[in-house]
Amino acid sequence: MSVKETTVAIVGGGLVGSVMACYLARRGYRVSLFERRPDPRISMIDGGRSINLALSNRGWKPLEELGLADEVEKLVIPMRGRMMHNEEGALTFQPYGREGEAINSVSRGGLNQLLLTKAESLGISLGFESTVADVDFEKGILLFADGSFFTADIILGADGAYSMLRYQMQRTERFNYSQYFIEYGYKELAIPADKEGKHRLEINALHIWPRGKFMLIALPNLDGSFTCTLFLPFEGDCSFEQLCSHEAITSFFREYFPDALEVMPELKEDFDDNPTSSLVTIRCFPWSRGKVLLIGDASHGIVPFYGQGMNSGFEDCRVLNELLEKHNDDWQKVMHAFQEQRKPDTEAIADLALANFREMRDLVADDDFLLRKKIEARLYELYPDKWIPLYSMVTFREDMRYSVAKRRGEIQQEIMDKVMKQEGFRENWESADFSWVINELAGRQ
Ligand SMILES: Cc1cc2nc3c(=O)[nH]c(=O)nc-3n(C[C@H](O)[C@H](O)[C@H](O)COP(=O)(O)OP(=O)(O)OC[C@H]3O[C@@H](n4cnc5c(N)ncnc54)[C@H](O)[C@@H]3O)c2cc1C
Repeated sequence: MSVKETTVAIVGGGLVGSVMACYLARRGYRVSLFERRPDPRISMIDGGRSINLALSNRGWKPLEELGLADEVEKLVIPMRGRMMHNEEGALTFQPYGREGEAINSVSRGGLNQLLLTKAESLGISLGFESTVADVDFEKGILLFADGSFFTADIILGADGAYSMLRYQMQRTERFNYSQYFIEYGYKELAIPADKEGKHRLEINALHIWPRGKFMLIALPNLDGSFTCTLFLPFEGDCSFEQLCSHEAITSFFREYFPDALEVMPELKEDFDDNPTSSLVTIRCFPWSRGKVLLIGDASHGIVPFYGQGMNSGFEDCRVLNELLEKHNDDWQKVMHAFQEQRKPDTEAIADLALANFREMRDLVADDDFLLRKKIEARLYELYPDKWIPLYSMVTFREDMRYSVAKRRGEIQQEIMDKVMKQEGFRENWESADFSWVINELAGRQ
C-alpha cells in the first residue's frame, strides 16, 4: 500500500499528537486526529489559566523541521538561567549554559493551538470531543465512547500519561508496565503582571525558591505574569495536607517564600481554585501491538524536573519520521526499530528527571554543589568538546542521545568526586591544572 493510500489515526491532539500529525501529513499520509476535549482554539481549557513549559533544543528541532520556528519564536520567552531566591529574598543567578544558550518558556495552550492550526492547514482531519474507549489492535479499529467506529491502517496512541490505548495493551499478554507516583504533588499558582502590565520579577530566568524538602518555581508568560508551581509532599511536615486554611497558607508562604508572597495577591484564591495534582513516571514495553504504536507520555510519562517531557515527546516524532524515511515507510520495521531505539533513551531521561528533583529543591542552595557547578563551567569553557555538563548535554545537545548523556554524566560525576577530594583544591581551584581530569575522562570513554 502506498503512503497516499495509508490512513493513520492519531489518538490525542495534545502537543505530541499534533506534532506527529504534521510530520505524517507532510509525508503524504491521510491523517485523522481524535481528541477527547473540545477544540482549544474555540473553548478555553483549564479555566483559562496560563500554564507554561520549558521548551529546549530537542523540542525546538522538530518544530524547526516542520517550518514552525518563526511562529513559535513569537510565543516564547528565553530563560538564560536559574534565579535562586533564598529565605531572606536574596537572589543568585546561575546561567544554564554558555553565552547565548537558553531554555524557553512557552504557553502550553498557545503552542497546542498553533500546532493544531498547522495540522489543519496540512489537510489533517481534526475530530474534537471524540473520546476513544477501546481498540482492536490487529484490525486497527477505534471504538469511541459514543459507539461510533473508525478503521485505520496505523494507529498512534498520543493520549498522554493516562493513555486509554496503553490501558488496553496492559490487558494483553507479555506487556510490561509500571507506574510510580512520587510522594510529592504540585499546584499551579500565579504572579500577576504589575499595574503597567510588566513582569514583577526578572523576566529572562526560571525562578526557584529551593527549600530542601520542597520548592516553588516560576516561569514567565508573555502577558507580564508568571506561572508558579509549588511542589510539596502530600502528607507530613510542610505538606499540602497541612495547608488546609487561608491562615495556614499565608503563614507558610510568609515563612518560606516571603518575597514571593509579596507579589502573589491572588494566592489564596489560586490555592482554592487550582487542583493539587500528582506526579507519575510511566514505564512500559513493548510500545507496539498489531497496528498500534504508543508515543509521547503514553509510552514514557516522566516527572517534570528536567523540563523534558514534551521535549522528549517531540524527539519521538522526529525519530519516528527519520525511521519512516530510512525504512521506506515499512511500518512493521519502523515500529520495531522505533521502540528499540527510543526505550533506552526514554528510560535515561526518566531516571534523570527523578534525580533532578533533588538538585532543584535542595542542592542548588548547597555550597559544595555550587562549587562543583563553577568547576564544571570552567572545564566546559576550557574543553568545550570534551567536558560538557550533564544539564547541557540533556538540554542543549539535541544531537546526543539521552542514554549517552546519562552515561557520560555518571562518568563525569565520578571524576568530579575525585577532584573535590584533592587536598587544597577548594581554595585553589581557579589556578588548578585540569589536564589530568580530561585525560582521565578520555580514558573512561
Ligand atoms: C507540572 C508539569 C510541568 C511540566 N513541565 C514541562 C516542561 O517544562 N518541559 C517539558 O518538556 N515538559 C514538561 N512537562 C511534561 C509535558 O507536559 C508532557 O510531557 C507533554 O504534555 C506530553 O504530551 P503528550 O501529547 O504525549 O500528552 P498530553 O499533553 O497529555 O496530551 C494527550 C492528549 O490526549 C487526549 N486524550 C487522552 N485520552 C484520550 C482518549 N481516550 N481519546 C481521545 N483523546 C484522549 C488528552 O485530552 C490530551 O489532549 C510538564 C508536565 C507537568 C505535569
